[in-house]
Amino acid sequence: MPTSQPLPKVVVPPYDKNNVFARILRGEMPFEWVYGNQYVMAFRDIAPVAKVHVLVVPRGAYVNYHDFIENAPANEQLGFWKAVDHVARELGLAENGWRMVANTGKDAGQVVPHFHIHILGGEPLGPMDNPPRQN
Ligand code: AMP
Repeated sequence: MPTSQPLPKVVVPPYDKNNVFARILRGEMPFEWVYGNQYVMAFRDIAPVAKVHVLVVPRGAYVNYHDFIENAPANEQLGFWKAVDHVARELGLAENGWRMVANTGKDAGQVVPHFHIHILGGEPLGPMDNPPRQN
């Protein structure tokens, strides 16, 4: 049911130009390359939580999902999401499936303040509630 209430305003912190993914994008840090085009770079997560764990990041400077979807031009958004699909297929994940995760903000435990999605797969991933909540 649509609501007439205005949506809460989202406060996006200023973009930190020295976050780790910004440094990777500028070629200032080593990384394990998976894919790149004019819109994205994809590289292996340094601390994988699945057999295949790849990060896809837009080349543009966006702090989180909200920032990206509100402020990235349409061609950058489409380019990003198409590249995510491309990477998952190139990694051979299409047949058995895969999981996309975008940690956003504090409660999700977003550590790196440059919008990114995790591609997880290469094995059965189990339920989302894994490990189970402690409380
Ligand atoms: P989050 O911000 O919670 O979505 O997660 C950030 C992810 O970036 C974590 O899974 C880290 O393991 C990963 N990460 C942090 N530094 C690097 C790096 N230098 N190269 C690749 N992955 C990284």
